[in-house]
Amino acid sequence: MGGDPRLDPDATWSHLAHLSREVFTIATTDGETTFVSPSVRWVLGYEPDDFMELAGIALVHPDDRATVSDLWTAALTNPDAAARARYRLRHADGSWRWFDVAYHNLLEDPAVGGVATHSHDVHDRELADEALRTNEARLQALMRNADDAIVISDALGRFVWTSPSVKALWGYEPETLLGDTLLDKVHPDDRRELIRRFASMTRDQRSSVRIEARVWHADGHWRWYECIFTNCLEEPAVRGVVANVRDTTDRALVEQALRASEQRLEYQATHDHLTDLPNRTLLLDRLAMALARAGRAGRHVGVLLLDVDNFKVLNDSRGHAAGDQLLVALARRLTGLVRAGDTVARLGGDEFVVLSEDLPDPADAVEQAEILVDAFEEPLRLPADEIYATVSVGVAVARAGSGSPSDLLRDADAAMYEAKSRGRSRVAIFDTSLHATIRDRHDIETALRHAIAADQLVVHYQPIIDLGTDAVTAAEALVRWQHPDRGLLLPGAFIGIAEESGLIGRIGSHVLREACLRASVWQSHRPDGVRVSVNLSARQLDDPGLVTELAAALDVAGLSPELLLVEITETCLMRDAAASAATLARLKALGVRISIDDFGTGYSSFASLRSLPVDQLKIDRSFIDGLGVDERDEAVVAAIVQMGHMLDLEVLAEGVERAEQLEHLRSMGCDAAQGFHLGRPEPATTLEAMLESC
Ligand code: C2E
Ligand code: MG
Ligand code: MG
Repeated sequence: MGGDPRLDPDATWSHLAHLSREVFTIATTDGETTFVSPSVRWVLGYEPDDFMELAGIALVHPDDRATVSDLWTAALTNPDAAARARYRLRHADGSWRWFDVAYHNLLEDPAVGGVATHSHDVHDRELADEALRTNEARLQALMRNADDAIVISDALGRFVWTSPSVKALWGYEPETLLGDTLLDKVHPDDRRELIRRFASMTRDQRSSVRIEARVWHADGHWRWYECIFTNCLEEPAVRGVVANVRDTTDRALVEQALRASEQRLEYQATHDHLTDLPNRTLLLDRLAMALARAGRAGRHVGVLLLDVDNFKVLNDSRGHAAGDQLLVALARRLTGLVRAGDTVARLGGDEFVVLSEDLPDPADAVEQAEILVDAFEEPLRLPADEIYATVSVGVAVARAGSGSPSDLLRDADAAMYEAKSRGRSRVAIFDTSLHATIRDRHDIETALRHAIAADQLVVHYQPIIDLGTDAVTAAEALVRWQHPDRGLLLPGAFIGIAEESGLIGRIGSHVLREACLRASVWQSHRPDGVRVSVNLSARQLDDPGLVTELAAALDVAGLSPELLLVEITETCLMRDAAASAATLARLKALGVRISIDDFGTGYSSFASLRSLPVDQLKIDRSFIDGLGVDERDEAVVAAIVQMGHMLDLEVLAEGVERAEQLEHLRSMGCDAAQGFHLGRPEPATTLEAMLESC
């Protein structure tokens, strides 16, 4: 350019200076401006002449004046180096604009002879820089104070940048982590998942994954952290994987505790607390699943319902704690007997179910039930002793796609009752005729409620003979149901149902009132009266109103209390010997006499007999049966008679059917006897005729 003859260098320079966004000035050492480039017009809005007049410290922003004065001094004292600074100058429109200004000491340059300044408008850049600085400061403050930490790693998970908040969150000095690998700090159990998810995230730009993992805290504990990784490997400003890390230990612990308590609740809702076996709810669930599976596989499902024989007697005689131990031992034995995959559940009380799946043949279920029954020939070991407990088992089998879980249970239950009625320790298989039995039980209960109101319950009396005088001295009141369709029903057909349903209380009261009235009539015919025996059920004995009721019945009938004898079975008395003793004492105080019925079938000890205020022992029919047939029965009866006499008790034998039994009893010194051989239970009029004839 310099060699082109057409160009005048000064004119060119001046022309370029016109176009420039820069302003040049020259000033004397006194600070007087002697030159300003015309560009001052469009850069700062002043006419050059006006500018020269104004120029000086007045155009500098008050906050920057110290800087300018330092610069000026520096320029004057050091002619070799340019002095530079950034400061604000006032535009003609009154606004302040940023400039980078360089001062050149050209005092010695003859062409200038002053201090030249060169101001470059950087206003827009300065504003942008300032915004950046503010943002940066904000970011720093945020990171220092945030609960979250941000770390950046490379594609292999090595830390390349860590935010200051890492210290608060994680305990490490941020810079000490650089170069370490995140994976090294993660709990071994959480590593696989982390590797898997991290790798999938690094495949796609900008994709994110959220991972919850335990990380080793600098304080020497595992803590839970939620990390959100974002792939910014391709982003020029980052070139890494950004992880937002947050401590979630408290939440994780709360969630863990909640999960644990949910599991506990679920377990409690589906398991029996005594034996830890699945309960009815869980059993029905599993049964439904088993049926669905059987349907698909064309196999059979067996439901074996077990009930402990005479559990009530065992429980009553040995106490509830022993009863519980027995159930636990039984549960353990059952669990050991079934195949893997079969379910043993407790329905409640002494009822258990074995759910047997995947049976090729229905007969397999029966075979399995027989194995169970046989297994209980061995005694169960309780903490303190051993106990023999047999079980009765009802079996129901579902073929592919047949029946619902509750139908199956109901059928197994009916079969179990059938097994019991056939004489315990047996297996019975459900067949449809059992439905009728269940319906019968229900019908009887409904009809029995009605029978009480309709006065269909009648009392028959069976004579009791004094073996010393052969005279009828007493009678036992036995209830019968005059059923409109089925004729006269004996207690065996309805007493059990009455006890289960609670109707026994009303029946008992009815018999008691009837018997007292009847005995009162006999008392008026015979000077020393005829004693009447009334059976009391366990429920009546437990009724706190019993003594009052008895007193009222005696009072209404006008009967002497010593003519009333209450029979309580041995089993019922020994359930809770202490409570029984208290009730008996109150009965005794009324003057009523007390008999222990079915004696020999329960578990009373000599000591407990002595402590109870009883008057009579009634030897159970099963022993009398053996008289003249079985020497062991004879020995037992003789021993009971002797023991009774030693305790000053009257001893009575029930169920005498043959003359020979009577002879045995006489020779043993038994006091009284009752049985078909001596007279059947009959309406009161029959007994009254008998009383008149003797
Ligand atoms: P239990 O108190 O042991 O009554 C004796 C049972 O033996 C009566 O049966 C009677 O008919 C029967 N029996 C008497 N002598 C002979 C005999 O020589 N041979 C045979 N095979 N049996 C004989 P029943 O009347 O059927 O009563 C059965 C049970 O029902 C009674 O046994 C008693 O436990 C209960 N029961 C009867 N009436 C009542 C009542 O009013 N209230 C309560 N709670 N239970 C009653
Ligand atoms: Mg009786
Ligand atoms: Mg009896």
